[in-house]
Amino acid sequence: MPIKSLIRTIAHYPREGIMFRDITTLLKDPTGLRTTIDQITERYRSEKINKVVGIESRGFIIAAPVAYALGAGFVPVRKPGKLPADTIGCDYQLEYGRDRIEIHVDAIEKNDRVLLIDDLIATGGTMEAAIKLIEEMNGTVIECCLVVDLPTIGGSKRLQQQGHKLFSLCRYD
Ligand code: IMP
Repeated sequence: MPIKSLIRTIAHYPREGIMFRDITTLLKDPTGLRTTIDQITERYRSEKINKVVGIESRGFIIAAPVAYALGAGFVPVRKPGKLPADTIGCDYQLEYGRDRIEIHVDAIEKNDRVLLIDDLIATGGTMEAAIKLIEEMNGTVIECCLVVDLPTIGGSKRLQQQGHKLFSLCRYD
């Protein structure tokens, strides 16, 4: 089942010139949702993943069912001020300005085998910040998994050059 064909593109959202890849059309399709979760789960079935980290907010939608299917725990990485207990955070560069993500200090333990999931990678800034947080807590990021890679923006290549493993279900060249 072609996952890419179920993803909708919205031109000029949220700003003029941006082609927004909208996975809500994939998620609302029963076969599309099941195929997405099954393909990711099958890839990591024998990797002994014990934590699946999802990045707010669309990453949560994919990461939670994958964690359930793998028999792993789910950990949220969130925007600042959203997590109730003690957190560590990482600031990162956006095209215009900066952003920050946070994780609970007790979310990852030493030697956790972590699968990191988000819906999409563009500049890679969000994913890179999440990797830093997990590694700061001495977890091992087994792979970063995305539904969509936008390779022309360069984030996936940059992270791979840093030695991180990346897997995406589809890409827009
Ligand atoms: P990056 O940090 O530049 O790689 O941007 C990735 C983050 O921005 C992810 O958390 C995505 O959810 C979000 N994002 C950027 N562009 C799009 C898009 O076209 N569709 C959906 N999410 C996007």
